[in-house]
Amino acid sequence: MISNRDESKRRLTASGIKPTFQRAVILEAVRGKNGHPAIRDLHARLLRDVPTLSKTTLYSTLELFARKGLVKPLFIDPAEVRYDGVAEPHHHFYCTACRRILDIDIACSTGRAGRIHGHQVDEVHGYFKGLCRDCLAGGRLSRAANVSIHNSPRRKPHA
Ligand SMILES: [Zn+2]
Ligand SMILES: [Zn+2]
Repeated sequence: MISNRDESKRRLTASGIKPTFQRAVILEAVRGKNGHPAIRDLHARLLRDVPTLSKTTLYSTLELFARKGLVKPLFIDPAEVRYDGVAEPHHHFYCTACRRILDIDIACSTGRAGRIHGHQVDEVHGYFKGLCRDCLAGGRLSRAANVSIHNSPRRKPHA
């Protein structure tokens, strides 16, 4: 069975990036469970494997990955940029209580790659915000006074 580390190296090579140990570990961490990490959390997690890793290096490595289409920066969390190890466009649910970002596997009926009002659409991203089912079940509602589910205003095709 191919390991996640080997898979990360394979993806790096396929994208024309030299597959160093450090890069493979970083890519593996972005793609791993607890997905959509912020730099801060990712850095803390990675220090166990790469104790010498600086935040600056991590940032520039993620920038490189983003340029090569290996990761996607997400601007759904008002506090910080989050990184997605699945670069293909898909929808997200952001929990305003626990701040997790979850992938939502639905097809958008109004906007898909093609043309809208004469504009060429290359990517469609839907952002939903509210309380995740774990927070709803666990009663961790203290931070979540405003419960709303809506698409990002930037992506309303009828606006
Ligand atoms: Zn939650
Ligand atoms: Zn995602």
